[in-house]
Amino acid sequence: MQVYLSRPDISEEEIEAVSAVLRGPNLSLGPKLAEFEEAFAKYIGLKRAVGVNSGTSGLFLCMLALGIGQGDEVITTPFTFIASATPIMMAGARPVFVDIDPVSLNIDAAKLESGITDRTKAILPVEVFGNPAGMDKVLEIAQKHNLMVVEDSCEALGSALNGKKAGTFGRMSVFGFYPNKQITTGEGGMILTDEDDLADMCVSLRNQGRARNGGWLSHERLGYNFRLSDINCALGIVQLSRVEQFKAKRRQVAKWYQEMLADDERLIVPAEPDDCDISWFVFVVRLAERFTRQQRDSILEAMRGQKIQVSNYFTPVHLQPFMVEQFGYKRGDFPVAESVSERTIALPFYNNLPQDEVAIVCKTLKEILDKNL
Ligand SMILES: *Cc1c(COP(=O)(O)O)cnc(C)c1O
Repeated sequence: MQVYLSRPDISEEEIEAVSAVLRGPNLSLGPKLAEFEEAFAKYIGLKRAVGVNSGTSGLFLCMLALGIGQGDEVITTPFTFIASATPIMMAGARPVFVDIDPVSLNIDAAKLESGITDRTKAILPVEVFGNPAGMDKVLEIAQKHNLMVVEDSCEALGSALNGKKAGTFGRMSVFGFYPNKQITTGEGGMILTDEDDLADMCVSLRNQGRARNGGWLSHERLGYNFRLSDINCALGIVQLSRVEQFKAKRRQVAKWYQEMLADDERLIVPAEPDDCDISWFVFVVRLAERFTRQQRDSILEAMRGQKIQVSNYFTPVHLQPFMVEQFGYKRGDFPVAESVSERTIALPFYNNLPQDEVAIVCKTLKEILDKNL
Protein backbone atom coordinates (compact mmCIF):
# COMPACT_ATOMS: atom_id res chain seq x y z
CA MET A 1 0.00 0.00 0.00
CA GLN A 2 1.15 3.48 -0.94
CA VAL A 3 0.60 6.34 1.51
CA TYR A 4 0.25 9.55 -0.50
CA LEU A 5 1.73 12.90 0.52
CA SER A 6 -1.34 14.78 -0.69
CA ARG A 7 -4.69 14.06 -2.37
CA PRO A 8 -7.42 16.46 -3.43
CA ASP A 9 -10.93 16.07 -1.98
CA ILE A 10 -13.32 16.18 -4.94
CA SER A 11 -16.95 15.15 -4.47
CA GLU A 12 -19.75 14.54 -7.00
CA GLU A 13 -20.83 18.12 -6.37
CA GLU A 14 -17.59 19.50 -7.86
CA ILE A 15 -17.83 17.11 -10.81
CA GLU A 16 -21.42 18.23 -11.45
CA ALA A 17 -20.51 21.92 -11.17
CA VAL A 18 -17.63 21.58 -13.62
CA SER A 19 -19.76 19.52 -16.02
CA ALA A 20 -22.48 22.17 -15.96
CA VAL A 21 -19.96 24.79 -17.13
CA LEU A 22 -18.76 22.44 -19.87
CA ARG A 23 -22.36 22.04 -21.07
CA GLY A 24 -22.87 25.82 -21.16
CA PRO A 25 -21.62 28.61 -23.44
CA ASN A 26 -19.10 30.34 -21.12
CA LEU A 27 -15.82 28.55 -20.48
CA SER A 28 -14.04 31.77 -19.53
CA LEU A 29 -15.05 35.24 -18.28
CA GLY A 30 -18.53 33.89 -17.60
CA PRO A 31 -20.69 34.13 -14.47
CA LYS A 32 -18.67 31.62 -12.41
CA LEU A 33 -15.71 33.98 -12.14
CA ALA A 34 -17.74 36.75 -10.50
CA GLU A 35 -19.54 34.20 -8.31
CA PHE A 36 -16.25 32.70 -7.08
CA GLU A 37 -14.73 36.15 -6.47
CA GLU A 38 -17.75 37.36 -4.50
CA ALA A 39 -17.93 34.22 -2.37
CA PHE A 40 -14.20 34.42 -1.69
CA ALA A 41 -14.23 38.12 -0.73
CA LYS A 42 -17.14 37.40 1.61
CA TYR A 43 -15.37 34.44 3.23
CA ILE A 44 -12.21 36.45 3.94
CA GLY A 45 -14.18 39.57 4.86
CA LEU A 46 -12.64 41.99 2.37
CA LYS A 47 -14.25 44.14 -0.30
CA ARG A 48 -12.63 42.76 -3.44
CA ALA A 49 -11.31 39.46 -4.74
CA VAL A 50 -9.69 39.07 -8.16
CA GLY A 51 -9.30 35.55 -9.57
CA VAL A 52 -6.09 34.72 -11.44
CA ASN A 53 -4.53 31.60 -12.94
CA SER A 54 -2.06 30.98 -10.10
CA GLY A 55 -0.85 32.26 -6.77
CA THR A 56 2.40 33.24 -8.45
CA SER A 57 0.67 35.49 -10.99
CA GLY A 58 -1.42 36.93 -8.16
CA LEU A 59 1.67 37.99 -6.22
CA PHE A 60 3.26 39.39 -9.38
CA LEU A 61 0.16 41.50 -10.09
CA CYS A 62 0.24 42.82 -6.51
CA MET A 63 3.78 44.07 -7.14
CA LEU A 64 2.69 45.81 -10.34
CA ALA A 65 -0.51 47.26 -8.86
CA LEU A 66 1.46 48.74 -5.96
CA GLY A 67 4.04 50.23 -8.32
CA ILE A 68 6.92 48.09 -7.06
CA GLY A 69 9.69 47.69 -9.63
CA GLN A 70 13.26 48.49 -10.63
CA GLY A 71 15.34 49.89 -7.77
CA ASP A 72 12.92 48.78 -5.07
CA GLU A 73 13.45 46.18 -2.37
CA VAL A 74 10.87 43.88 -0.86
CA ILE A 75 11.58 41.97 2.34
CA THR A 76 10.49 38.35 2.54
CA THR A 77 11.39 35.08 4.20
CA PRO A 78 14.01 32.62 2.94
CA PHE A 79 11.93 29.72 4.32
CA THR A 80 9.05 29.54 1.87
CA PHE A 81 8.06 28.25 -1.54
CA ILE A 82 10.07 29.86 -4.34
CA ALA A 83 6.95 31.72 -5.56
CA SER A 84 7.03 34.14 -2.62
CA ALA A 85 10.30 35.62 -3.90
CA THR A 86 10.14 35.24 -7.68
CA PRO A 87 7.21 37.66 -8.23
CA ILE A 88 9.35 40.38 -6.61
CA MET A 89 12.06 39.66 -9.19
CA MET A 90 9.59 39.39 -12.08
CA ALA A 91 8.56 42.96 -11.25
CA GLY A 92 12.23 44.02 -11.44
CA ALA A 93 12.66 44.56 -7.70
CA ARG A 94 15.12 42.90 -5.34
CA PRO A 95 14.07 40.33 -2.73
CA VAL A 96 15.75 40.93 0.63
CA PHE A 97 15.61 38.08 3.10
CA VAL A 98 15.28 38.23 6.87
CA ASP A 99 15.75 35.08 8.94
CA ILE A 100 12.88 33.18 10.52
CA ASP A 101 11.57 32.54 14.00
CA PRO A 102 12.68 29.02 15.01
CA VAL A 103 9.27 28.13 16.49
CA SER A 104 6.67 29.58 14.11
CA LEU A 105 9.05 29.25 11.10
CA ASN A 106 7.63 32.57 9.84
CA ILE A 107 9.74 35.67 9.18
CA ASP A 108 11.15 36.93 12.49
CA ALA A 109 9.51 40.30 13.19
CA ALA A 110 12.25 41.08 15.74
CA LYS A 111 14.84 40.94 12.93
CA LEU A 112 12.78 42.77 10.30
CA GLU A 113 14.36 46.16 10.88
CA SER A 114 17.78 44.76 9.96
CA GLY A 115 16.50 44.27 6.40
CA ILE A 116 15.03 47.75 5.94
CA THR A 117 16.94 50.20 3.71
CA ASP A 118 16.10 53.44 1.85
CA ARG A 119 14.93 51.28 -1.03
CA THR A 120 12.53 49.08 0.93
CA LYS A 121 9.00 49.45 -0.40
CA ALA A 122 7.17 46.49 1.06
CA ILE A 123 7.25 43.45 3.30
CA LEU A 124 5.95 40.16 1.93
CA PRO A 125 5.28 37.82 4.88
CA VAL A 126 4.11 34.23 4.47
CA GLU A 127 1.96 32.14 6.81
CA VAL A 128 4.23 29.15 6.40
CA PHE A 129 2.40 25.79 6.53
CA GLY A 130 -0.77 27.73 7.46
CA ASN A 131 0.57 29.20 10.71
CA PRO A 132 -0.36 32.90 11.08
CA ALA A 133 1.83 33.48 14.17
CA GLY A 134 3.59 36.83 14.22
CA MET A 135 1.62 38.50 11.41
CA ASP A 136 0.45 41.20 13.83
CA LYS A 137 4.05 42.03 14.72
CA VAL A 138 5.07 42.21 11.06
CA LEU A 139 2.21 44.65 10.49
CA GLU A 140 3.35 46.81 13.42
CA ILE A 141 6.89 47.13 12.04
CA ALA A 142 5.55 47.86 8.56
CA GLN A 143 3.33 50.63 9.89
CA LYS A 144 6.17 52.10 11.94
CA HIS A 145 8.34 52.35 8.81
CA ASN A 146 5.53 53.27 6.43
CA LEU A 147 6.00 50.12 4.35
CA MET A 148 3.35 48.30 2.36
CA VAL A 149 2.49 44.69 3.22
CA VAL A 150 1.71 42.10 0.56
CA GLU A 151 0.61 38.98 2.37
CA ASP A 152 1.38 35.62 0.79
CA SER A 153 -1.49 33.62 2.30
CA CYS A 154 -1.19 30.82 -0.25
CA GLU A 155 -0.76 28.24 2.51
CA ALA A 156 -3.24 29.68 5.00
CA LEU A 157 -6.80 29.69 3.70
CA GLY A 158 -9.01 29.58 6.80
CA SER A 159 -6.29 30.40 9.37
CA ALA A 160 -6.68 33.26 11.83
CA LEU A 161 -4.62 35.10 14.45
CA ASN A 162 -6.61 36.41 17.42
CA GLY A 163 -9.73 36.04 15.29
CA LYS A 164 -8.26 38.02 12.38
CA LYS A 165 -8.20 35.96 9.18
CA ALA A 166 -5.08 35.25 7.15
CA GLY A 167 -5.37 37.43 4.07
CA THR A 168 -6.51 40.50 6.01
CA PHE A 169 -3.11 41.61 7.30
CA GLY A 170 -1.73 42.93 4.03
CA ARG A 171 -2.82 45.86 1.92
CA MET A 172 -3.08 43.12 -0.67
CA SER A 173 -3.00 39.37 -0.11
CA VAL A 174 -2.91 36.29 -2.29
CA PHE A 175 -4.22 32.72 -2.06
CA GLY A 176 -3.29 29.78 -4.28
CA PHE A 177 -5.34 26.79 -5.40
CA TYR A 178 -2.83 24.20 -6.59
CA PRO A 179 -4.15 20.69 -5.75
CA ASN A 180 -2.22 20.35 -2.46
CA LYS A 181 -3.69 23.57 -0.98
CA GLN A 182 -6.66 23.69 1.40
CA ILE A 183 -8.97 24.17 -1.59
CA THR A 184 -8.11 23.59 -5.24
CA THR A 185 -9.20 24.81 -8.65
CA GLY A 186 -6.63 22.58 -10.38
CA GLU A 187 -4.53 25.69 -10.91
CA GLY A 188 -5.55 29.13 -9.73
CA GLY A 189 -5.14 32.01 -7.34
CA MET A 190 -7.01 34.90 -5.75
CA ILE A 191 -5.92 38.45 -4.96
CA LEU A 192 -7.68 40.15 -2.02
CA THR A 193 -7.83 43.81 -1.13
CA ASP A 194 -10.14 46.42 0.36
CA GLU A 195 -9.06 49.01 -2.21
CA ASP A 196 -11.07 49.28 -5.43
CA ASP A 197 -8.34 50.96 -7.46
CA LEU A 198 -5.85 48.18 -6.69
CA ALA A 199 -8.43 45.48 -7.52
CA ASP A 200 -9.42 47.26 -10.74
CA MET A 201 -5.77 47.48 -11.77
CA CYS A 202 -5.38 43.72 -11.23
CA VAL A 203 -8.55 43.05 -13.26
CA SER A 204 -7.02 44.97 -16.15
CA LEU A 205 -3.54 43.45 -15.81
CA ARG A 206 -4.86 39.87 -15.74
CA ASN A 207 -6.80 40.48 -18.94
CA GLN A 208 -4.26 41.91 -21.43
CA GLY A 209 -4.37 45.42 -19.99
CA ARG A 210 -7.92 45.99 -21.12
CA ALA A 211 -9.89 48.91 -19.68
CA ARG A 212 -12.95 48.27 -17.56
CA ASN A 213 -15.40 49.61 -20.12
CA GLY A 214 -13.21 49.50 -23.19
CA GLY A 215 -13.53 47.15 -26.14
CA TRP A 216 -12.04 43.68 -26.45
CA LEU A 217 -9.30 45.04 -28.71
CA SER A 218 -8.58 48.17 -26.72
CA HIS A 219 -5.55 47.87 -24.44
CA GLU A 220 -4.69 50.60 -21.94
CA ARG A 221 -1.46 49.19 -20.59
CA LEU A 222 0.96 46.29 -20.82
CA GLY A 223 -1.06 43.37 -19.53
CA TYR A 224 -0.97 39.61 -19.28
CA ASN A 225 -3.27 36.66 -19.71
CA PHE A 226 -3.60 35.50 -16.12
CA ARG A 227 -7.34 34.74 -16.37
CA LEU A 228 -8.98 31.99 -14.35
CA SER A 229 -11.45 29.99 -16.47
CA ASP A 230 -15.07 29.38 -15.47
CA ILE A 231 -14.24 25.67 -15.32
CA ASN A 232 -11.72 26.36 -12.55
CA CYS A 233 -14.09 28.80 -10.84
CA ALA A 234 -16.97 26.30 -10.75
CA LEU A 235 -14.63 23.87 -8.99
CA GLY A 236 -13.47 26.62 -6.65
CA ILE A 237 -17.00 27.69 -5.65
CA VAL A 238 -17.88 24.20 -4.43
CA GLN A 239 -14.50 23.73 -2.77
CA LEU A 240 -14.84 27.05 -0.94
CA SER A 241 -18.30 26.07 0.31
CA ARG A 242 -16.61 23.07 1.96
CA VAL A 243 -13.60 24.93 3.41
CA GLU A 244 -14.69 24.78 7.06
CA GLN A 245 -15.35 21.04 6.71
CA PHE A 246 -11.90 20.64 5.11
CA LYS A 247 -10.31 22.61 7.93
CA ALA A 248 -11.91 20.35 10.53
CA LYS A 249 -10.77 17.20 8.71
CA ARG A 250 -7.20 18.50 8.45
CA ARG A 251 -7.22 19.50 12.11
CA GLN A 252 -8.22 15.94 12.99
CA VAL A 253 -5.34 14.47 10.95
CA ALA A 254 -2.92 16.95 12.58
CA LYS A 255 -4.22 15.91 15.98
CA TRP A 256 -3.62 12.22 15.26
CA TYR A 257 -0.04 13.01 14.30
CA GLN A 258 0.45 15.19 17.38
CA GLU A 259 -0.86 12.44 19.65
CA MET A 260 1.04 9.59 18.02
CA LEU A 261 4.33 11.48 17.83
CA ALA A 262 4.13 13.17 21.22
CA ASP A 263 6.94 12.56 23.70
CA ASP A 264 9.45 11.42 21.09
CA GLU A 265 12.43 13.61 21.87
CA ARG A 266 13.92 12.89 18.45
CA LEU A 267 11.16 14.94 16.80
CA ILE A 268 9.88 18.50 16.95
CA VAL A 269 6.16 18.27 16.23
CA PRO A 270 4.24 21.40 15.17
CA ALA A 271 1.72 22.73 17.67
CA GLU A 272 -0.99 25.36 17.44
CA PRO A 273 -0.15 28.52 19.43
CA ASP A 274 -2.92 29.76 21.77
CA ASP A 275 -3.61 32.90 19.75
CA CYS A 276 -3.71 31.02 16.43
CA ASP A 277 -6.45 29.14 14.64
CA ILE A 278 -4.46 27.12 12.11
CA SER A 279 -5.95 25.81 8.91
CA TRP A 280 -3.29 23.15 8.38
CA PHE A 281 -1.65 23.16 4.95
CA VAL A 282 0.95 20.43 5.46
CA PHE A 283 2.24 18.57 8.49
CA VAL A 284 5.98 19.07 8.74
CA VAL A 285 7.92 17.59 11.64
CA ARG A 286 11.58 18.35 12.31
CA LEU A 287 14.35 16.17 13.58
CA ALA A 288 16.01 17.30 16.81
CA GLU A 289 19.01 19.63 16.52
CA ARG A 290 21.59 16.87 16.74
CA PHE A 291 20.51 15.27 13.46
CA THR A 292 22.32 16.12 10.23
CA ARG A 293 20.97 16.79 6.80
CA GLN A 294 22.44 13.46 5.62
CA GLN A 295 20.54 11.61 8.33
CA ARG A 296 17.33 13.42 7.38
CA ASP A 297 17.82 12.55 3.72
CA SER A 298 18.40 8.90 4.50
CA ILE A 299 15.26 8.88 6.66
CA LEU A 300 13.29 10.34 3.71
CA GLU A 301 14.72 7.60 1.47
CA ALA A 302 13.85 4.88 3.97
CA MET A 303 10.28 6.20 4.31
CA ARG A 304 9.88 6.21 0.54
CA GLY A 305 11.25 2.67 0.51
CA GLN A 306 8.31 1.73 2.74
CA LYS A 307 5.93 3.28 0.16
CA ILE A 308 5.29 6.38 2.24
CA GLN A 309 5.52 9.64 0.32
CA VAL A 310 7.42 12.32 2.22
CA SER A 311 9.08 15.60 1.31
CA ASN A 312 11.74 18.02 2.53
CA TYR A 313 9.94 21.39 2.78
CA PHE A 314 11.71 23.86 2.05
CA THR A 315 15.17 24.30 0.58
CA PRO A 316 15.95 27.91 1.58
CA VAL A 317 15.10 30.32 -1.23
CA HIS A 318 18.41 32.21 -0.97
CA LEU A 319 20.37 29.01 -1.64
CA GLN A 320 18.59 28.16 -4.90
CA PRO A 321 21.28 28.23 -7.61
CA PHE A 322 19.88 31.19 -9.57
CA MET A 323 19.56 33.24 -6.36
CA VAL A 324 23.15 32.47 -5.42
CA GLU A 325 24.28 33.44 -8.90
CA GLN A 326 22.30 36.68 -9.09
CA PHE A 327 22.65 37.97 -5.53
CA GLY A 328 25.68 36.15 -4.13
CA TYR A 329 23.88 34.62 -1.16
CA LYS A 330 25.76 31.87 0.65
CA ARG A 331 25.31 29.24 3.30
CA GLY A 332 25.36 30.94 6.71
CA ASP A 333 23.45 34.05 5.62
CA PHE A 334 20.21 32.95 7.31
CA PRO A 335 21.26 30.29 9.81
CA VAL A 336 17.87 29.60 11.38
CA ALA A 337 16.16 28.97 8.03
CA GLU A 338 19.09 26.84 6.90
CA SER A 339 19.21 24.77 10.06
CA VAL A 340 15.43 24.19 10.07
CA SER A 341 15.35 23.27 6.39
CA GLU A 342 17.98 20.57 6.85
CA ARG A 343 15.84 18.71 9.36
CA THR A 344 12.28 18.94 7.99
CA ILE A 345 10.16 15.95 7.07
CA ALA A 346 6.75 16.66 5.51
CA LEU A 347 4.51 13.71 6.34
CA PRO A 348 1.52 12.54 4.28
CA PHE A 349 -1.28 15.03 4.93
CA TYR A 350 -4.68 15.58 3.34
CA ASN A 351 -8.38 15.80 4.28
CA ASN A 352 -9.25 12.12 4.03
CA LEU A 353 -6.02 10.55 5.24
CA PRO A 354 -7.29 7.61 7.34
CA GLN A 355 -6.24 7.23 10.97
CA ASP A 356 -4.73 3.79 10.32
CA GLU A 357 -2.48 5.26 7.63
CA VAL A 358 -1.36 8.01 10.02
CA ALA A 359 -0.54 5.22 12.47
CA ILE A 360 1.51 3.37 9.83
CA VAL A 361 3.42 6.56 8.98
CA CYS A 362 4.23 7.22 12.66
CA LYS A 363 5.21 3.63 13.37
CA THR A 364 7.44 3.47 10.29
CA LEU A 365 9.09 6.79 11.12
CA LYS A 366 9.85 5.66 14.67
CA GLU A 367 11.27 2.33 13.46
CA ILE A 368 13.52 4.10 10.97
CA LEU A 369 14.67 6.51 13.69
CA ASP A 370 15.42 3.54 15.96
CA LYS A 371 17.69 2.07 13.31
CA ASN A 372 19.43 5.39 12.64
CA LEU A 373 20.56 5.85 16.23
C1 LIG B 1 1.47 27.58 -3.36
C2 LIG B 1 2.21 28.79 -2.99
C3 LIG B 1 2.27 29.91 -3.85
C4 LIG B 1 1.59 29.99 -5.19
O1 LIG B 1 1.75 28.88 -5.96
P1 LIG B 1 1.03 28.65 -7.36
O2 LIG B 1 1.46 27.26 -7.67
O3 LIG B 1 1.57 29.66 -8.29
O4 LIG B 1 -0.44 28.79 -7.20
C5 LIG B 1 2.93 31.03 -3.41
N1 LIG B 1 3.51 31.07 -2.20
C6 LIG B 1 3.48 30.02 -1.36
C7 LIG B 1 4.12 30.15 -0.03
C8 LIG B 1 2.85 28.84 -1.73
O5 LIG B 1 2.85 27.80 -0.90
